[in-house]
Amino acid sequence: MKLSRNLLLLFLACGSLFAQRDLDERDRPRVAYVSRVLDDVQHTWDRELAPMTGTPYHHAKLDLFRNKMTSGCGPAKSLTGPFYCPADEKVYLDLGFFDELRSRFGARGDFAQAYVIAHELGHHIQKLLGIESKVHQDQDRHPRDRNELSVKLELQADCFAGAWAHSTKERGILKEQDVDSALSAAAAVGDDHLQKMARGYSSPESFTHGSSAQRQGWFRKGFATGRIASCNTFGTN
Ligand SMILES: [Zn+2]
Repeated sequence: MKLSRNLLLLFLACGSLFAQRDLDERDRPRVAYVSRVLDDVQHTWDRELAPMTGTPYHHAKLDLFRNKMTSGCGPAKSLTGPFYCPADEKVYLDLGFFDELRSRFGARGDFAQAYVIAHELGHHIQKLLGIESKVHQDQDRHPRDRNELSVKLELQADCFAGAWAHSTKERGILKEQDVDSALSAAAAVGDDHLQKMARGYSSPESFTHGSSAQRQGWFRKGFATGRIASCNTFGTN
């Protein structure tokens, strides 16, 4: 059974600009959770981004789906995992990825999903701050640094996710085990872990997202400070 129209309207009423495709009744709790997290992350940046950076926040949209679909950045496949498309300012998220995060990558707890959403919205912040376009220009100019720059961009999105988690702690809505869930997700989607799972070894020069340790480290850094300014992954090696 497809999600009822009322439910869809409820989500729209909650303020998330939200599209859903091929979802059914079983997805209902997860859709509700994703919607709550999305709203919380975006409202946090509504309050905090301008005071921290001078750039006002505006909301990204979310496209939730099962199975393949097309995005403003080309086809969205489950295999590529969730991603943010700067061209249409949308986060594309296949709910099947969350099943995989749990079953295949061993990242447990709802907050593992919250981390993924906050990370993707971290890419939206990079777009708003002009970081994303600058990095892509640098990548075109210096093709040899392409992967290294990609890693820095990804680690910064992890740090921004941590900064949001900091705000949930300040507001008293973070549970003790939540940070562990986020860190287990960050480790699970580290390039070294993914590569080892896929082919039994990892090669750092081909990393595009950073190692598990790097991803956890930058999430922790954002979590400790809650500051965008502490997330300068480009100033380090
Ligand atoms: Zn990313």
